[in-house]
Amino acid sequence: MVLLGLCYNTIMRTYIVGNWKMNFTIGESSIYLHKLLKRIKPARGLQIVIAPSSIALQPLSLQIDRKKLKLAAQNCNAKDYGAYTGETSVTQLRGLVNYIIVGHSERRHVFNETDNMIREKVAACIRNNITPILCIGETESQRSFGETKDVLRDQLISGLADVSREDLDKVIIAYEPVWAISGVKGAHPAVPDDIAESVKIIREHLSDTYGKEIAEKMPLLYGGSVNPSNAGAYLTIPGIDGLLIGGASLIADQFIDIIELAKKIKL
Ligand code: PEP
Repeated sequence: MVLLGLCYNTIMRTYIVGNWKMNFTIGESSIYLHKLLKRIKPARGLQIVIAPSSIALQPLSLQIDRKKLKLAAQNCNAKDYGAYTGETSVTQLRGLVNYIIVGHSERRHVFNETDNMIREKVAACIRNNITPILCIGETESQRSFGETKDVLRDQLISGLADVSREDLDKVIIAYEPVWAISGVKGAHPAVPDDIAESVKIIREHLSDTYGKEIAEKMPLLYGGSVNPSNAGAYLTIPGIDGLLIGGASLIADQFIDIIELAKKIKL
């Protein structure tokens, strides 16, 4: 097994992350990766990440060119090993992935993951030298009751509670309003002004808690119905360092168009 070097955020500033969710067989994943590898050129300052389903991680880890792309897991268990049937630990993911998506809204709302579980998963990632992509975001009803600020702050406080100050540069935050994620009933894309407001809440909270320097450095991604037509607008929101993409990351042409946009806008 190839052991990966660390991939902490100080090196990269823009991230394009594709979350494949529960799509593609191992064979389909491999064919799709082959397509991406043929068409993607490495660019300094831009990190492209794909998060295939867990069964595809091992074969894809042998096929991937890490100069072009890195792998992420979509989930993990916070314990290192033990009697947890059906689960995969961060320790087991070491050597396969550089990133793990933690606290995705589907994990929070479909699989009832609690803030406590998410806090433990973030800590397990740090302990194992894997960068957590901590997802936070309010639901439609929280938004309509004016609770967005409290929800985002609570999710940040609890998600980062076990991360030491020195390790904060090993965390990526993804703001994903649940009401904007495709697949959620009644979902609709967010307008950039809404996102900008949440970015302000997140950056201000980080600044008040950890200081301006840490707050400015922490990569903050946006996710929710991103496609090639709206990606440019989202990428130009001040304080947004990249995108977490679900549906559009399953279509090579769309994912590559978004990557090209990110190069033009961010590099
Ligand atoms: C996601 O899965 O994180 C996501 C944002 O999905 P979509 O782009 O399909 O809304």
